[in-house]
Amino acid sequence: MKILLHICCAPCAIYPVKTLRAQNLEVMGFFYRHNIHPYSECLRRQETLQVYAQKIDLRVIYQDGYDLEGFIQNVVYRERDRCKYCYHDRLQTTARLARHGKFDFFTTSLLFSKFQKHELIKSIGESVGKSAGVRFLYADFREGWKEGLETSKELEMYRQSYCGCIYSEKERFFHPEKKPE
Ligand code: SF4
Repeated sequence: MKILLHICCAPCAIYPVKTLRAQNLEVMGFFYRHNIHPYSECLRRQETLQVYAQKIDLRVIYQDGYDLEGFIQNVVYRERDRCKYCYHDRLQTTARLARHGKFDFFTTSLLFSKFQKHELIKSIGESVGKSAGVRFLYADFREGWKEGLETSKELEMYRQSYCGCIYSEKERFFHPEKKPE
């Protein structure tokens, strides 16, 4: 059985790939790019994944193009609710690709992160899977959080400090209340 795994970044993919392979699933990755800003950061995450994928013999589809403008246009005026759009677009793109490639299932490394909206990802995954005609495989990969983190450190992998979009970068670094001493 074949599964397409949406990969948000290499560190988050370590545990899901390992777990899915242990279930005798043939795993292929898919790296979606439009939500990772700026472009230099997107490239850095992609390159980190390319190195890791080669190391573990994982085939990965890398998304063409870089539609930062489309991403921004789709979340403008509803920035607080942007993750819903972001999850939906990433999972719908993955589901359609899985259907096209005759995969049995699709899933996402977002289910590994303790910082993501887990239940929302699950419900969107199931919904877009139904529409696309391919099953969303739900798994709570957060159980492997410690293991994945430790492996990424051992491999000296680049680990980003914000989720991906430019808004998340601002939330991570812009804290005007914290004045320098
Ligand atoms: S914070 Fe992360 S999940 Fe939410 S919109 Fe930005 S990149 Fe997407």
